[in-house]
Amino acid sequence: MTELDHPAEWTYAPAPESRDIARLRSSYGLFIGGEFVDAADGATMKTINPATEEVLAEVAVAGAADVDAAVAAARKAAGGPWRSMSGAQRAKYLFRVARVLAERSRELSVLETLDNGKPIRESRDSDIPAVVAWFFHYAGWADKLEYAGYGPSPQPVGVAGQVIPWNFPLLMAAWKLAPALATGNTVVLKPAETTPLTAMVLAEIFAEADLPPGVVNIVTGAGETGRHLVAHPGVDKVAFTGSTEVGKEIQRRVAGTGKRVTLELGGKAANVVFEDAAIDQAVEGIVNGIFFNQGHVCCAGSRLLVQESVADAVLDRLKERLATLRLGDPLDKNTDIGAINSAEQLQRIRELSDVGDAEGAERWQVDCDLPTQGYWFPPTLFTGVSQSHRIAREEIFGPVLSVLTFRTPNEAVEKANNSPYGLSAGVWTEKGSRILWMAEQLRAGVVWANTFNRFDPSSPFGGYKESGFGREGGRHGLEPYLEVDDG
Ligand code: NAP
Ligand code: MG
Repeated sequence: MTELDHPAEWTYAPAPESRDIARLRSSYGLFIGGEFVDAADGATMKTINPATEEVLAEVAVAGAADVDAAVAAARKAAGGPWRSMSGAQRAKYLFRVARVLAERSRELSVLETLDNGKPIRESRDSDIPAVVAWFFHYAGWADKLEYAGYGPSPQPVGVAGQVIPWNFPLLMAAWKLAPALATGNTVVLKPAETTPLTAMVLAEIFAEADLPPGVVNIVTGAGETGRHLVAHPGVDKVAFTGSTEVGKEIQRRVAGTGKRVTLELGGKAANVVFEDAAIDQAVEGIVNGIFFNQGHVCCAGSRLLVQESVADAVLDRLKERLATLRLGDPLDKNTDIGAINSAEQLQRIRELSDVGDAEGAERWQVDCDLPTQGYWFPPTLFTGVSQSHRIAREEIFGPVLSVLTFRTPNEAVEKANNSPYGLSAGVWTEKGSRILWMAEQLRAGVVWANTFNRFDPSSPFGGYKESGFGREGGRHGLEPYLEVDDG
C-alpha cells in the first residue's frame, strides 16, 4: 500500500511564523498628548501570551489622574488645528496611517497572535487587512462629509471616549478610531486589559504619521480605567464594544449627562440551514460561524438551527469536518484553532458547557490533544438542545455550538428570534425568495445569506435589543460622530 491509500495519516510539518518581527518591548507607557508616559502612580500590569502563559510585556495602568490628562489633551486638540483643518487635510493623515499599517502588517499580525492567542492565519488574512481597509475607507470619507446625507455642514461631536474588547483588538480600535477621526473628533481609547499591545504600536504609528498631539490618546488598564473614561465629564461621546452587562452599566452611568452613546454588545446568532441548502457549503459556513477566532466573536453563529429532514446529514458532515481542524500553536501557519484568550474566559466556557451537560444536552467534542501550557478548549457541539436551555440562550463566547432543529420556516423564524440578543443571523437555502423573506423576519442587525462572518468597511454593523444600538461601518458609521446640522 502506498501513502496515497492513507490520506488521513498525512501529517503537517510545523510551519511557524517567526516571532522576532513583533519587536516586543519590555514595557509600554500610556499615549497622552502625543507622548508615551508612565502612569501618574507608576502602576503597571503584565500582558501574557494565552497560548503559553509567558509574560510578553509590562503595560501602564491608567488611573483617574491619567484619564483626566488624556481627556484634557483630547479637549485641547478638539479645539485646535484638527478642528479647523479641511476634510482633505485630515484625509491625508488617515491615508498615511493606513499605508503604514499595511507596511507593518506582518509585524502587527504576529503581535496580535502573541497577545490574543488567535491563529496567525486569521490575524494575517483577516484582522490586519480589515484594519487597513477600515482606515482607507474612512480616509475616503473625510473630505466628503457634506455629501454623506447628514446635512450640508456636519460638525464633529468633540471628544470621544472609546472602550473596546479583546477578541479583535486592533480591528476594534480601527472600527472606533477611523470614523471618529474622519469626522474631525478627538479620541481617548481604552484597549482591553488582556490585549493592549497592538494598540500601542498603533500609537507609535500615529506619532510617526505626525498626527497632531492629543488627537488620539490611548490609556491602557483594566475595567476601572474604562469606568473612569466613560464617566469623565470632558467626554462628549461614549462608544463601547463589549459585554451586555457592562454596556447596561455604562448606559446607566451616562443617563442624563447629555453624552451621546453607542453600544455594540453580545449576541447569540442563529445560523439557519434549510433542507434545500448546499450541505457542504453550509457546513463550511457553520464552521466559520462558530469556530473562527475560537468563537470569541460577538456575531458568532452559536445556535445552529437545522431543518429536521437534513439534521443527521448535516451533523455527520460537520463532525467529519471538525475532525480535520488543527488546534495548537497560534503562530503555526497551519493552525485553525488557537488559544482561548484568558483563564477567566476559559473558566466561563467550561462552566456553561457543564451547564449544557447538566441540562441534558449531548456533548460531542473533537478528539484532539490539548497543549499542556496555556488556555485551550476543543471545538464542541451540543445536540438535543432546547430553547429553554441556558446554552441556547446565553452567550458562551467560545468554540461551542448549540444545535436545535425545526420543521417549518415559521418555526425557524420563531426560534431564531426567541433571544434577548439581535446582532446577526445566517440563512442557508437555494431559494432567493426565502432569503429575502427570512431577512425581513429575522430581528438581527446583519443577516448573512449563504455565507457568514463576512465584513466590509462599507457595510454597517450593529444590533437590536440587548445587542446594543448604533451602527459602525460605512456611511452609517459616520453619524454617531457628527452633530447633524440641517441649516
Ligand atoms: P467586557 O468585560 O464588557 O469588556 C469590554 C471592555 O470594557 C474592556 O476594555 C473592559 O476592560 C472594559 N470594561 C470593563 N468593565 C468596564 C466598566 N465598568 N466601565 C467601562 N469599561 C469597562 O467584555 P469582554 O469580556 O472584554 O468582551 C467580551 C464581550 O464583548 C462579549 O460579550 C461579546 O459579545 C462582546 N463583543 C461585542 C462586539 C460587538 O460588536 N457587538 C464585539 C466584540 C465583543 P477589561 O478588558 O479590563 O475588562
Ligand atoms: Mg473583560
